[in-house]
Amino acid sequence: MVVRLARLAPPLECVRLYDLEAGLDGFIAIHSTALGPGAGGCRLWSYPDASHALADAVRLAEGMSYKNALAGLPLGGAKAVLRRPEGEWDRVAMFRAFGRAVEALGGLYVTAEDVGTSVEDMQEVAAVSRHVAGLPSVEGRAGGDPSPWTAKGVFESMRVAARFALGRELDGLTVAVQGTGNVGADLCRRLAGAGARLVIADVSPVRRDRLAAVHGAEVVDVSEIASVDADIFAPCALGGALDRDTVAKLKAKLVCGAANNQLATPEVAGLLLDRGIAYAPDYVVNAGGIINVSAEYLGEGESDVELRVAQIAPRVGDLLARAAREGRSPAVVADEMAEEVIAGAQREAA
Ligand code: NAD
Repeated sequence: MVVRLARLAPPLECVRLYDLEAGLDGFIAIHSTALGPGAGGCRLWSYPDASHALADAVRLAEGMSYKNALAGLPLGGAKAVLRRPEGEWDRVAMFRAFGRAVEALGGLYVTAEDVGTSVEDMQEVAAVSRHVAGLPSVEGRAGGDPSPWTAKGVFESMRVAARFALGRELDGLTVAVQGTGNVGADLCRRLAGAGARLVIADVSPVRRDRLAAVHGAEVVDVSEIASVDADIFAPCALGGALDRDTVAKLKAKLVCGAANNQLATPEVAGLLLDRGIAYAPDYVVNAGGIINVSAEYLGEGESDVELRVAQIAPRVGDLLARAAREGRSPAVVADEMAEEVIAGAQREAA
């Protein structure tokens, strides 16, 4: 079945970040500010050239607009993408320069950690800008590494989705986890605690092997993880985990993971539907991190984060049920719901 993922207009603004001396080379893409300042993490990754980095920033910023809207946050969507320099480089200088660029936007963009960046990096940003979250938490206040909140939301969503799509609890199910970084590792810990059997893969062996030893997980090559014999496939690495080829090879009957932009192209939503594979939309299940970032930026408490993260799994359950009733992809239904929220805010502002 061919389905179209309706998408909003292109980004409002793309800022080129370039400071040769500081090693800064990248983009900030602000997709929407209808609901509040554009918020989304800062990714540091090796891109072959600037156009690949820009394309990633735009796609990720768009995803943040949808994610923030559906999570009920007073935030628009944005993202920063930095190109990792070759060889030796001064990390402090890079993140100070990035922070100055964030500050120059005067609150239009709020940053935090993403793939390749850390709490320490955000502390450098905070030295020159107020518009940053993901800083060390103060007792009772929201803050700190958002990854555990993301993992919690993904885990609870997976539990609900497994009941809906497989009619099973997680105990005894096999979950194939692609990527054992900050979120993937925490998700594995929770899954092992719930009695799931783990199969894991990562391009970097250090954390993967440690996890395998602790949880008795089976390790497979990255080229095999999507096609192993598993009940659930959990993409927790980078985007584009699901394309025509991987969907054709998937043995899992449910996809639920942390990675942003899991569908390589919009058509993949239809391919999953055709194969009867349930899909818990990425930006709905992985909203825990941005919920924590939002609460920190707005000066809220940890209890507010708990409350909002607890709403993710029921939302996923409702979404899967509605999509099944209507015979449509949950990805399409989620997009429509997010667009209604954003359009409502645009109408109010007009
Ligand atoms: P991370 O950098 O800590 O972990 C990513 C892991 O994926 C790394 O261990 C990396 O080696 C591995 N990896 C990269 N390419 C791979 C491949 N082809 N096959 C297997 N492994 C591969 O990042 P993270 O914070 O754990 O985030 C993981 C994903 O979840 C990303 O897509 C991120 O955008 C998304 N996400 C993260 C958060 C958060 O709070 N950290 C929130 C929402 C979404």
